[in-house]
Amino acid sequence: MPLSVKRLAVKHPMSVIDDPDCTFDLTVPVVVIGGGACGLVAALSAHTMGAEVIVLERDPVPRGSTALSSGMITACGSSPQKAADIHDDTPELFARDIQAKAGGRVDPDLLAAICTESGPTIDWLIKHHNMDLVLVDGPPYPGHSRQRTHAPPTNSGADLMADLLRAVDAAHIDVICNATVRELVVDGDRVRGVQITRPDGSIERLGCETLVLASSGFGGNADMVESWLPDMAGSIYFGHEGNQGEAILWGQALGAACEDMGAFQGHGSVATPHSITVSWALLNNGGILVNQTGIRFCDESLGASELAATVCQQDGSVWSVIDQGLYDGAMRFPDFKNLQTLRAIKSGATAAALAQACKLPVPALEETLAKLEKSPALTAPYHAIKVTGALLQTQGGLAVDTNARVQRPDGSTLPNLFAGGGAARGISGTDGSGYLSCNGLLSAVTLGRIAGREAGIQINALP
Ligand SMILES: Cc1cc2nc3c(=O)[nH]c(=O)nc-3n(C[C@H](O)[C@H](O)[C@H](O)COP(=O)(O)OP(=O)(O)OC[C@H]3O[C@@H](n4cnc5c(N)ncnc54)[C@H](O)[C@@H]3O)c2cc1C
Repeated sequence: MPLSVKRLAVKHPMSVIDDPDCTFDLTVPVVVIGGGACGLVAALSAHTMGAEVIVLERDPVPRGSTALSSGMITACGSSPQKAADIHDDTPELFARDIQAKAGGRVDPDLLAAICTESGPTIDWLIKHHNMDLVLVDGPPYPGHSRQRTHAPPTNSGADLMADLLRAVDAAHIDVICNATVRELVVDGDRVRGVQITRPDGSIERLGCETLVLASSGFGGNADMVESWLPDMAGSIYFGHEGNQGEAILWGQALGAACEDMGAFQGHGSVATPHSITVSWALLNNGGILVNQTGIRFCDESLGASELAATVCQQDGSVWSVIDQGLYDGAMRFPDFKNLQTLRAIKSGATAAALAQACKLPVPALEETLAKLEKSPALTAPYHAIKVTGALLQTQGGLAVDTNARVQRPDGSTLPNLFAGGGAARGISGTDGSGYLSCNGLLSAVTLGRIAGREAGIQINALP
């Protein structure tokens, strides 16, 4: 169960040490910082290219936001799609859907590269790394014109991480845990290695020829959230607390550009105080949000991410109201069952009874439900869950080209630095409204594969 965490309002001593003469305890061709989906896929990819690679992970066990997610990865042209008789999904159609959601504000070249590589990346993970990824049942998620969502059969991000760690282990790739990278060691703008701080405060230095930044975004860094996402500054953070934005700060210190820094994946329906996401599908299929005065305050069809800030502005919490049919359908999902076990779901045979159970004004909720113009209509008996808005994942980051190489503001690339996942700019436009479902792992997995491959190509080209 994901726990919400308080953002740390601390300034981290993160820096770049310019030292051409620094010596290292060990040097490996490719170092990857961060052992989430992006970092582990990047490591597998560099390994496939024949490059020796080490992953550095700050936690005792790699989890990242990936383990908190539903493990759902969108991709087009994959074998699971073809097995399900979906033969007409294309990178162009996929990119069009993503641009439509983001109002056309996604870098078209990066998007084309990610969409094109997405299906082959899923196939490579399945065929070469024996990963258990299936096409999700049912109709496409809103905004996707084909069913293209892949996931572990359990729809669990923790299971996705377990499978990735198994694959990395099978490839004999070292993942060094309890290894927080605080500083990059550089010579000008060329990375020479990294400085690792261990839990006991001891310092180790690891040299590298190429570096992949896969340490995700800045959702866990209160100062950066306040600077870049002021509307979400007061919200709970639902992602991984280790996402402190170091990649962006290191990149900036090396002269890299950052893009789309106002973009984020939010969620307007997180059960409070339980910190369990309540599927937005309930609201797409007839459920409504009402505030503490019993009044509906938004058009739920706008989406989970775009309404996160609106929900946060409603006195801290609101109620997600559904009926028996939606309740019964949701009970097959473990998170929803958990909510029932935790007694987070209030019920009422009538609107008045529900209002009393939720301590909402009876006449107001009665009127809201009686005058509801939403299809399909809600019918008694009713159920409701108290929810709030949350920041899940930042979507802005280091500018990268189609080979995941980190770019300067003029579009030129840094000599040996790559980035992917939450560390790199996303494909979700410029604010909270552009996130199409599963953009996060699409970018983490596909750009991770590109970053690892290109780092490996650079190693193979060395004299
Ligand atoms: C509740 C929730 C549900 C979600 N559901 C979905 C979904 O179903 N589909 C989807 O596409 N997206 C989803 N997302 C978004 C998705 O989880 C992220 O976009 C994705 O996991 C990012 O992957 P990543 O590898 O870049 O980052 P992470 O998985 O966060 O990995 C980054 C890793 O880097 C490590 N690290 C950070 N800094 C350092 C450092 N200095 N030194 C060493 N290690 C470091 C961290 O400990 C972490 O393990 C969800 C997010 C949340 C919060």
